[in-house]
Amino acid sequence: MSISQLAKSIPASPTLALNDTARMLKEKGESVIHLGGGEPKSKAPLDAILSASAKLYSAEVKYTPTEGIPAMRKAVVRYTEENYNHLVAPENIIISNGAKQSLSLLLQAIVNPQDEVIVLAPYWVSYPEMIKMTYGIPVVVTPEDGRFEPRLEDVVAAVGSYTKAIIVNSPSNPSGAVFSEKLIAELVEYCEKKDIYLIMDDIYHKLVFDGTKWVSPYKYAKVRDEKSKLITVNGVSKAYAMTGFRIGWTVANRKVIAAMVNLQAQTTSCASGLLQAAAVGALNGIQTGVESLRVTLQNNRDIMLSELRTIDGLRVQKPGGTFYCFPDFSAYTKSSAELSKLLLDKVRVVTVPGNEFGMDGHLRLSYCGSIKDIKEGVERIKWALDPKAPNEIFIGERKMVRDWL
Ligand code: PMP
Repeated sequence: MSISQLAKSIPASPTLALNDTARMLKEKGESVIHLGGGEPKSKAPLDAILSASAKLYSAEVKYTPTEGIPAMRKAVVRYTEENYNHLVAPENIIISNGAKQSLSLLLQAIVNPQDEVIVLAPYWVSYPEMIKMTYGIPVVVTPEDGRFEPRLEDVVAAVGSYTKAIIVNSPSNPSGAVFSEKLIAELVEYCEKKDIYLIMDDIYHKLVFDGTKWVSPYKYAKVRDEKSKLITVNGVSKAYAMTGFRIGWTVANRKVIAAMVNLQAQTTSCASGLLQAAAVGALNGIQTGVESLRVTLQNNRDIMLSELRTIDGLRVQKPGGTFYCFPDFSAYTKSSAELSKLLLDKVRVVTVPGNEFGMDGHLRLSYCGSIKDIKEGVERIKWALDPKAPNEIFIGERKMVRDWL
């Protein structure tokens, strides 16, 4: 069979593969705890459902303008003004099938073959692959001090004449780190000076804890006209618990948006009008669900942290946002892939290995599920790793004997 070089260079999505294995085990009746998930378990906002229902009842669900329905672009204009304190026109916005497609189209719109795009480790798994799909080259910057926030010097050292863009994700998947205002300001200023794109993936920006301030990057932008190379990507998936609705958007200068519109026109035509209607409902409706999700996640984070801190030798940094944390298990093993496999095989806990995020030795653990799962999941991990724990445990109905330590 003849498969393209490009397709061959893209590995299977590790998170999707893990989900498949977990589903298969569950179907067999195994007691699986999923700490690998990437979506809140709350329901979509009622306003989203009402708005989509009205559209559905009209029985007229047709192609929409490629760039998005006017009401959705208008809602994003308002969202950007309210949340970013930044004024944009509808022509600065394109609505796509999730922030994932927004980012992918954006990279297609700006990256030439051999252009370099800087990603900051630990990074979201999809960035390097998306960059490769545009025949660009991902350049990874890893903080040397074990923290999850790079220093500007490290970023600067990675920038060269082929650098096209830097991607920033704060709060970050997988670490939950919220970058300091100082770093955001420095990055905005530096990218303006170097005339390179700064892509802010803000999909978790409303899910921040402890009164941490998420900073709008536009606050530090001096270039605020159509020459601006500051781009923000966002969507309804996380804050509104609407992952399956697949609606995301990009805010950028008109030239970039026009290029993305052409690319989207020839690939998916448009995001579904039905689901855009739902997103309009979510953005324009009552916002209390977002805050209650944020509070729930903060509480879940605290529970997960206090459980994790009972495991000897584990290094845990407190996440300032998202629903992930990224503890360092290197005291137990350097290979997070092996550790993740052991935890699934032996104690039926799903985790995502850190090597997928460019930082081995760590595991990404999600706390978007139930408190019961968080507690039991971490307890099972502890049992699997701690030689001092009793030799036997019940996993569901099954008695397990630890024979691997
Ligand atoms: N960026 C990051 C950092 C993410 O974690 C995700 C979802 N896992 C996305 C973008 C994509 O979100 P969407 O569901 O809107 O495609």
